Amino acid sequence: MSRFFSDKYAALTPYTPGEQPKDMQYIKLNTNESPFSPPQSVLDAVRNEAGRLQLYSDPESTALTEKAAEVWGVKKTQILMTNGSDEALNFAFMAFCDTDHPIVFPDITYGFYPVFARLNGIPYRTIPLKADFSICVQDYLGVGANIAIANPNAPTGLALSVESIEEIVKSNPDNVVIIDEAYVDFGGESCVRLVDKYDNLLVVQTFSKSRSLAGARLGLAIGNEKLIADLNTLKYSTNPYNVNRMTAAAGLAALCETEWFENNRKTVCENREYTANALREIGFTVLNSKTNFLFAKSDKIGGKALYEKLKARGVLVRHFNAERIKEFVRITIGTREQMEIFLAKTQEILEEEEE
Ligand code: PMP
Repeated sequence: MSRFFSDKYAALTPYTPGEQPKDMQYIKLNTNESPFSPPQSVLDAVRNEAGRLQLYSDPESTALTEKAAEVWGVKKTQILMTNGSDEALNFAFMAFCDTDHPIVFPDITYGFYPVFARLNGIPYRTIPLKADFSICVQDYLGVGANIAIANPNAPTGLALSVESIEEIVKSNPDNVVIIDEAYVDFGGESCVRLVDKYDNLLVVQTFSKSRSLAGARLGLAIGNEKLIADLNTLKYSTNPYNVNRMTAAAGLAALCETEWFENNRKTVCENREYTANALREIGFTVLNSKTNFLFAKSDKIGGKALYEKLKARGVLVRHFNAERIKEFVRITIGTREQMEIFLAKTQEILEEEEE
């Protein structure tokens, strides 16, 4: 830390992104990226746009936002495009939370929520998941604070129904409920259809997973026009050109690829079920994932040891050294070939443990 670093950030522990190691070629199942590159039309759109990089991007991402409004069935004034959904989440924490408006979220969830809270000086409280790692809806009814819920949740992969989300939103009319739907396209149910009914619901989605654009950094917030106007105030006070030209072009082309998108998510779901079944057959406990990852544990080997042994064999998964979940590993769903290698290496490790 330099001697100039502001006291207000001195105690901040930043978010730790998943490893991106350069020492060797790993099978990367650790950061929930898509294993499939984007379709050709997206690559062409990026190449075309690159010729105009001397010009600032459109601060309103007009063409992209109009197309998104059509895809999600809302008005364009109900959408804000952001630099990854992390930016949408940060704007939401900044816009709606402060010392008088704290926030609650589950004890086991996306690790960025406590970071956004501390970064912005927002008091927060975590609500424990049930013993089976599901969210207890009752705990959020009339909770009297803003709420952030990843649905499906990460790293558990478990989802709540839209009815449960609606109960939570309805019972907290004077607080904003942020529903982070980063993984919703892999079997979850989106609550975007509730945004016209509730002015306190903000839904956040991303192009990073089901649309294979993690490296482009594109996310969006969908909600009541007034909530979106507030987020825009923050955007125009920090970085009006938050979505760059190539990303906006990639996003627009991606939204036109309906068939590719349907196939992409279907393949991921098929590979997930194949992997979950295979893991259960060799004795793993696997939570019922509605995402592009699995959260699993074996009683033959601890989470950290499995992570390390897989890494030594060239397969990267994610391990969280946190109470309640340290026996688990989170495995991103890759191609069928990648999952077969992962399963073979896992089997090998278990056999070694039994010797
Ligand atoms: N929400 C959740 C639950 C996530 O796991 C992630 C990705 N790690 C994000 C949001 C952010 O994704 P991005 O910024 O790539 O859109």
